[in-house]
Amino acid sequence: MKTALVNLFRATFGRAPEIMARAPGRIEFIGNHTDYNGGTVLGAAIDRGVWVAVAPREDGQRRFASDQRAGVVAVSWGNLDKRSGAESWVNYPLGVVAALPAFGLRAPAGFDYLAMSDLPTGAGLSSSAAIELASGLAFLAMTRQEPSRETLVKVGQHAENQFVGVPCGILDQGVSGFGRKDHLVFIDCRGPTFATVPLPAGAHFWIFNTHTKHALVDGLYAARHRECMAAAQTLGVGQLVDVSPAEVWAAEARLSPGAFKRARHIVEEIARVTATQDALRAGDLAAVGNLLTASHRSSQTLFENSTAELDFLVETLGATPHVFGARLTGGGFGGAVMALTSAKFGAAQADAVAAAYAVKFGARPDVLHTQTGDGAALVAV
Ligand code: ADP
Ligand code: MG
Repeated sequence: MKTALVNLFRATFGRAPEIMARAPGRIEFIGNHTDYNGGTVLGAAIDRGVWVAVAPREDGQRRFASDQRAGVVAVSWGNLDKRSGAESWVNYPLGVVAALPAFGLRAPAGFDYLAMSDLPTGAGLSSSAAIELASGLAFLAMTRQEPSRETLVKVGQHAENQFVGVPCGILDQGVSGFGRKDHLVFIDCRGPTFATVPLPAGAHFWIFNTHTKHALVDGLYAARHRECMAAAQTLGVGQLVDVSPAEVWAAEARLSPGAFKRARHIVEEIARVTATQDALRAGDLAAVGNLLTASHRSSQTLFENSTAELDFLVETLGATPHVFGARLTGGGFGGAVMALTSAKFGAAQADAVAAAYAVKFGARPDVLHTQTGDGAALVAV
């Protein structure tokens, strides 16, 4: 990747890059819709990501290119207007430029910029956080500023929330920023605070992306958010993290059947995150896998953010040897399923799952095999 990045930078801008950075994509490991309820979540940075190369320009122009887009987008100095159409991808790095002053950091003046990626975009692996964090690191190195990792993560989230306009939680940027090979990232969303948790050796991830998306996904997501807040209010707390599963059960009569189910999912999911940490500490991947599958069952029956496609994949994977567990990963209502497997699960097994899915749903899911990887970092030029 590094050589390809330097070569494409030279071909695009006629000179060598001066600074390079890379940030990984991520998987939501367990902790479904817990973030906005003040709960906890475990994510994994994966071994694929976005690479960014930059070199300063004297004329103040900001020139953006990507291996995934044709042409160069030139933005004059001082112009922080949102781009649209074919240029809208520039909103991710430009949003980072625009976010820096909000954190007391200097924005870079002119530069040539190239992004390159071995991470599928729009596949639920958070290429958006990866491009934000790689861009942030490169811009900060250009201006010789060294903020904390927390700040870098918050700059990325600010860019995505405020500039791009996607109301994502802290998971995506937090995991891309704090990821570590052979570890998971634990986030307590109330702080937020970040920690890494060792992942026992021999854990492999397989992602099955269905490319399905519920037509009403944004509205459904907002509805779940509302239902959780309403349940918290009925229970007399600000956020569902502040009630125990026993308290939710005790309040069943006061909650509508829907609110009861949503609240149960959240408080039990937060308990599963804790149980997963215990199982990881014990090196028990089988127990971890059972918790992943239990999380999916809860999505299916309590939070009702699964689909027939995702359920089929979890079912089929559950019946396949060498699979510890599987669950929908991300917001749900379509998207992808993640399976945690041993090294013995291979392309042949994955292919059989994809083929069975195709028989039922008429199209194959995209299959991606990954392992954990390191978080955002500068790359030596
Ligand atoms: P996800 O984060 O799940 O991949 P998003 O829709 O949040 O999906 O973000 C994908 C968007 O991020 C792309 O449509 C593009 O605008 C931008 N992006 C990510 N990686 C790159 C890249 N290497 N080059 C250009 N744009 C990128
Ligand atoms: Mg994204």
